[in-house]
Amino acid sequence: VTLPYPTPTSTVVSRVMRGNRKVGTRPELRLRSAMHRLGLRYRIGLAVQAGHVRVRPDAVFTRAKVAVFLDGCYWHACNTHGTRPASNADYWVPKLANNVARDRRVDEALAAAGWTVVRVWEHESAIAAADRVAALVVRAKLGAWARPRL
Ligand SMILES: [Zn+2]
Repeated sequence: VTLPYPTPTSTVVSRVMRGNRKVGTRPELRLRSAMHRLGLRYRIGLAVQAGHVRVRPDAVFTRAKVAVFLDGCYWHACNTHGTRPASNADYWVPKLANNVARDRRVDEALAAAGWTVVRVWEHESAIAAADRVAALVVRAKLGAWARPRL
């Protein structure tokens, strides 16, 4: 079901919509440079196929099979900043719920395909998030080395 895209009725929504463009948003850049400073090397813009799900994480560690997503607080309905839209609620409430449901489907599909999924909130400290990613990448690599080669 495709719902028509309503005209934003408040400047807050307009600002949020502008701020959540898919490519090169500032929280994304902060996370990238924090990861880079830790010596992490990752791919940007890479599509990952996991079962029937094809997804483009914000950063991909191909060897470690770690997929990093930077989730905007509004679009992914963070508990702290995910506001419940009052205007156009008939449109936004199901749309945001769909986003969250899709996130969980993506997580499950990736996990089933052997990926480690890291979700970083837009509001998180980029440095703390990069530390978390680094730890998971190391762990994923260790796991890969520990698995018997067939
Ligand atoms: Zn938030």
